[in-house]
Amino acid sequence: MTVDNLTTADEKIVYDAIVIGAGVIGPCVATGLARKGKKVLIIEKEWSMPDRIVGELMQPGGVRALRSLGMVQAINNIDAYPATGYTVFYNGEHVDIPYPYKADLKPIEKISGLVKGGNDKVLNDSTIKIKDFEDDERERGVAFVHGKFLMNLRNIVAQEPNVTRVQGTCIEVLKDNKNEVVGTKVDIEGRGKIDFHAHLTFVCDGIFSRFRKELSPTHVPTVNSSFVGLALYHANMPVQNHGHVILGTNHMPIIAYQISPEETRVLCAYNSAKVPKDLKSWLAKDVQPYMPKSLGPSFDKALESGKYRAMPNSYLPAKSNDVIGLCVIGDALNMRHPLTGGGMTVGLHDVAQMIKKIGDLDFADRPTVLDELLDFHYEKKNYDVVINVLSIALYSLFAADNQYLRALQKGCFQYFQRGGDCVNTPVQFLAGVLPSPFKLTKVFFSVALYSILINFQEKGISGLPMALFEAIMIWVTAVKVFTPFLFKELSS
Ligand SMILES: Cc1cc2nc3c(=O)[nH]c(=O)nc-3n(C[C@H](O)[C@H](O)[C@H](O)COP(=O)(O)OP(=O)(O)OC[C@H]3O[C@@H](n4cnc5c(N)ncnc54)[C@H](O)[C@@H]3O)c2cc1C
Repeated sequence: MTVDNLTTADEKIVYDAIVIGAGVIGPCVATGLARKGKKVLIIEKEWSMPDRIVGELMQPGGVRALRSLGMVQAINNIDAYPATGYTVFYNGEHVDIPYPYKADLKPIEKISGLVKGGNDKVLNDSTIKIKDFEDDERERGVAFVHGKFLMNLRNIVAQEPNVTRVQGTCIEVLKDNKNEVVGTKVDIEGRGKIDFHAHLTFVCDGIFSRFRKELSPTHVPTVNSSFVGLALYHANMPVQNHGHVILGTNHMPIIAYQISPEETRVLCAYNSAKVPKDLKSWLAKDVQPYMPKSLGPSFDKALESGKYRAMPNSYLPAKSNDVIGLCVIGDALNMRHPLTGGGMTVGLHDVAQMIKKIGDLDFADRPTVLDELLDFHYEKKNYDVVINVLSIALYSLFAADNQYLRALQKGCFQYFQRGGDCVNTPVQFLAGVLPSPFKLTKVFFSVALYSILINFQEKGISGLPMALFEAIMIWVTAVKVFTPFLFKELSS
């Protein structure tokens, strides 16, 4: 389709749904609704391939959601790189954490009308193998060049006969005299500012959302840290097909994962929204010395290239969609720390839940749609809370900046080293396949107790009084790290 065709949408039609944004979430919303028979208009400010350092590793929970939506083939033919688990490094030691067994999980739900003709199964291509994804006993995640994945999603939505695409920037959410949402105003190059109307308007405009405030003026993210991204080429990864989390007492967390046969993304955490002016010096002094040896040469080349990009890490608990005619979803609604790569998984799971909840309703019956969207907020909560709280809690531990957090960080690593359930349960949270905030709380505080125990063992009999004091401080720190976020997420 040429850009011309992307500017000709009919403004006289009242669409069932308008979708603002064709990032990760918008095309999935539009495709799902179109397959349910809805007439959908999707508006994106720039349909050509973006170049971003976000959304590059998808957890197994995200792949499962894509299967439920009949869109998993979006990971095909883009040189995507299968992920089979994680390796965590701590001061030079490491522990492998493979993804969960399929047999331990519920079967994947196929959403009626969306899954057809085998579109819930991957295809064979140069990097993705049916044998690995469909027949392996463990779940798989996948990493890719973000822009290529997005273009696949956009191609899928473009093939839906019920979907009309527009290239333009939404500049306003339209409301009627009862303050209910009725559509959006779009600035289209060569055509001007056009009003489009729909029974339901989906806001999927992502991290820097302009329209999330339509839910509430207080629905704004906080930003306390950043990631600085580098691209490594032909890196010698310590463990093939694993995401790498590099931790240590003297540095901030670093993550590394291969996103294609050639390219590896490295994201280096910086504990402030504003990154240092001289990124090269910071990377050379505070990151490079802590990289695993095998990554050294490719990291040095990336450092020399001078191509670094920074992104803010935002946090925003979800809010219920309580405005008639409006549904905010994806990063516009809810964000967590990207350390655990959970953003796409939460968003895609939400899309699958939302389509199941309202996909068969008549969108012209707006009060009924609103009632169902209010239920949807609570029904998706357990799933999202686990991924969101895990990301924040782990970031606090992994970016430890006091001795008690450092004790928790060390305890966490040694807990993983115990293997068995000490690895199997945490990886289910990370993978997005265990939606139990209760179990997450239990595991987090088991880690805290284990950290206290290790501290007692290290201090020995002579250090008992100090260890007792530190036990209290470690416990208090654990409570302070975990409970406010759990409370915020559960009560939002
Ligand atoms: C540094 C970083 C790393 C991350 N890494 C991962 C990861 O490895 N794994 C993971 O699962 N998640 C990751 N995430 C999170 C992930 O990127 C998001 O959860 C995901 O992209 C959200 O999808 P979305 O569709 O809601 O928003 P986006 O993907 O941001 O899409 C929004 C779309 O809306 C369009 N748009 C915006 N405004 C308008 C407008 N006014 N009119 C028309 N169109 C508009 C934009 O052009 C864009 O195409 C990361 C985030 C960060 C910050």
